[in-house]
Parts: sequence; C-alpha cells; structure tokens
Amino acid sequence: MEQKYDIIIIGAGPAGTVTGKLCAKKGLKVLILEKRPEIGAPKRCAEGMGQPDLERVGYTGKERFVTQEINGGIVITPNGGTIELPPRHGGYIIERKVFDKFLAYDAAKAGAKIYTKAHVFDLIWTNNKIAGVKLTYNGEQKDIYGKIVVAADGVESKIARIAGLPSGNTLKTLESGYQYEMANIEIADPHKIYTYLGNNIAPRGYIWVFPKGSHIANVGIGIGNCDEKTAKYYLDKWIASKPGISKGSIIEENSGGIPIGGFLDSMTKDNFLAIGDAAHQVNPLHGGGLAEASFSAQIAADVMNDAIKSNNTSNIALDRYNKLWWEKRGNNLKKVEKLVHLLERITDSEMNLTQSSFSGQDIINLTEGKLHHLIKIMLKNPRLATLVKYLK
Ligand SMILES: Cc1cc2nc3c(=O)[nH]c(=O)nc-3n(C[C@H](O)[C@H](O)[C@H](O)COP(=O)(O)OP(=O)(O)OC[C@H]3O[C@@H](n4cnc5c(N)ncnc54)[C@H](O)[C@@H]3O)c2cc1C
Repeated sequence: MEQKYDIIIIGAGPAGTVTGKLCAKKGLKVLILEKRPEIGAPKRCAEGMGQPDLERVGYTGKERFVTQEINGGIVITPNGGTIELPPRHGGYIIERKVFDKFLAYDAAKAGAKIYTKAHVFDLIWTNNKIAGVKLTYNGEQKDIYGKIVVAADGVESKIARIAGLPSGNTLKTLESGYQYEMANIEIADPHKIYTYLGNNIAPRGYIWVFPKGSHIANVGIGIGNCDEKTAKYYLDKWIASKPGISKGSIIEENSGGIPIGGFLDSMTKDNFLAIGDAAHQVNPLHGGGLAEASFSAQIAADVMNDAIKSNNTSNIALDRYNKLWWEKRGNNLKKVEKLVHLLERITDSEMNLTQSSFSGQDIINLTEGKLHHLIKIMLKNPRLATLVKYLK
C-alpha cells in the first residue's frame, strides 16, 4: 500500500466504489479501503433498483447481477385494499453481492486501488485538519495520507463522527430492518414488488416482498423504533399469517439500520467529505439508498476533482458539494422526510383512505417529495386537515 493518495475512500459499498471510479477516471490517485473480507457480502438490502439508477452507474440491465425484471408494484393498505403502482421506467431486483463487486471491478479498472480487510479506525490530523487515515491491514497498523478523505462507511459511520460531523443516528432517524431471502413461496405476480402497510404489521414502516424469481423473494420489514418488539418479531408474525409465504424456506437472513432523514446541513470539513448512508443520503419513505449514493458520487467526484486541481481542498471549496446536493436531492428528500413524520401520526383507518384517494402515480409522486395532491386531499378531511401543518 502506497503512503500518499489524492483521495482516500473509507468503505467499498456503492457510495465508495462509484465515487472512487469517477475520481480515478478524472486522473486522481484513489485508494478505497474496505474492512470486510468480501465486497458486497453480507448484503443488507432488498436489492430493488430503477432502470435510470442502473444506467447512471453505466449498466444496461442485461448484466448477470440482475435477477428479476420488475414492471410495477402493489401497495396493500391495512384493510387489504390494493393500489397498483405503474411500471414507470422499469426496474430490477439485483444480486447485491454481485452488483457491488461489479462496481468495485469498474473502480479498479478506472485505476482506483482497493484493499479488503483494511479497517480504518481513526483519522490523522495535522494542524487541526484531517490529513489521512489510520488503519489495520494484514494485522499491521498503517498511516496513509490523502488530500481528501471520504467517509463512505455506511449507516454506522464512525469516521464521519470522528471528523466532527453530527452524523450519528437517533431513534427518530433510524429504522430497524430485518429480512429473509425465501425460496419456494407463492408470489401472485413475480414481476411486481409488494409493499404492505399497517401499524399492526409494521409500525412506522412497511413490509416488502421483492421477487428475485417466480418463487424466490426478499421478504423484509423496516420499522420505527417505537416499542420493545423487534423488527424480526413483526416480520415472523406477518409471515406466519401468510400460508403462501410461510410454506417457503429461508435461505438467507440479514438485518440492518435504515436512515430515514436527519439530513446533514453540511457533509464536509477541511479535506473531508461524507457520502451515502454515512451522510444519511437515503429516501426516508422507502429506504432506497442506491440511487442516492450514485447521484451524490457524481457531485462529489466533480467537486473533489476541482478542489484538488485548484490545490484548495478547504471546507469552503468542498462546500459546493453541500450546495449542489441540497439543490439537486436534499430539498426534495426533506419534503419526503416531513411526509414520513406525518405518516407516523396517522391511524390504519386513515391509511385505508389512500386506496380510494390516490392513484399509483400519486404514490410515486410522494416518494419524490411532490406533496401537492396529498395536501389537497388532506384539506378535504377534517381530521387529516389538522395534520397538514406537518408538511409545511
Ligand atoms: C434491510 C434493508 C433493505 C434495503 N433495501 C434497499 C433497496 O431495495 N434499494 C435501495 O436502493 N436501497 C436499499 N437499502 C439501502 C441500501 O442498502 C444502502 O443505502 C446502500 O447500501 C448504501 O451504500 P453505502 O455505500 O453508503 O453504504 P454500505 O453499502 O453500507 O457500504 C459501506 C461499506 O463501508 C464499510 N466500512 C464501514 N466502516 C468501515 C471502516 N471503519 N473501515 C473500512 N470499511 C468500513 C462497510 O463494511 C461497507 O462495506 C436497504 C437497506 C436495508 C438495511
């Protein structure tokens, strides 16, 4: 491992490898450090991705990490009503263990150097400014210097906190996720994703069935931290009530935190930037972070390239990343965050109203922070009208 780089990226998840690839393509000397022995494993993801999001990272949907094409979705309200989501632009269920490796191959091909089993445990400071990282690799401790250090170390990011960013999660900004990959289950239409709502089945969250084939799916849950019962408890209870699913076998089990908001006003310091889950860049309504990671990687790579080429990697120079992210993504995600807080307050019977009041397209608009139609409907219902203030 060489001792000096332009960019040191901590974490080889999608945020780290896409940023690494784009920076290396611009001619920067990039190091990516991953603490796990294998990139992409274990997966902590329902593996859903839209066509434009795949295209943004240079893929077509024909690669071998694609397990299933998806052409729409079904939302199931607490009373069993359904809302059909239109196919929009098409989507996929991917195999993260293979997809993340593809991203890493691309980063390496572009010239980034990647090390696995390289655990960053601290930052190096010179004159009160971040100057590099301290890591253990092959049982040895190393100091490596970089002009910019990037925290792409996921939802539990320690490095962003060591850098001084308020990136820790609270009970309000973190959902608990639990998931089984299940085989030999019944899926009405294996080209649709299924989302089940209800305070009894998934308080402050939802249950998903994301098909990976005609009888295989990721069956998972994300819930807010509201009582002592775990996400696994709620998921097991729901599965037990569905004979077509409980008859299947569990072939993989994972759990993980899902950031739901708590966006950071600033994600930079002198010589430092945070990205992906480490910077809470996740859609708080559905928990999707893959699209957000690649959007942010493009912004970060441009800003860091300019900063390094103009020999100014100060917080002032890197602040353009904050500005562009808030302008292109953050302001809309902030509206979605407000919607999430509103949903935490509504009852199942109010949730049932969505079936008669919303089209699938309306639901998609909500995930993108377009709340006008929702506000109009709420204003017509005296109980819901009192909640409109939470969306403003
Ligand atoms: C249950 C669940 C379901 C989800 N489903 C979807 C979905 O269907 N679609 C979607 O778009 N998103 C989904 N997400 C979110 C998505 O998985 C994340 O947003 C995405 O993985 C974030 O990428 P990242 O690179 O920021 O972080 P990660 O993918 O978490 O990568 C961070 C990497 O940093 C490494 N690391 C951490 N600390 C260190 C250290 N100190 N030194 C070195 N390496 C370190 C980790 O080992 C890890 O490999 C889901 C999340 C969960 C938990």
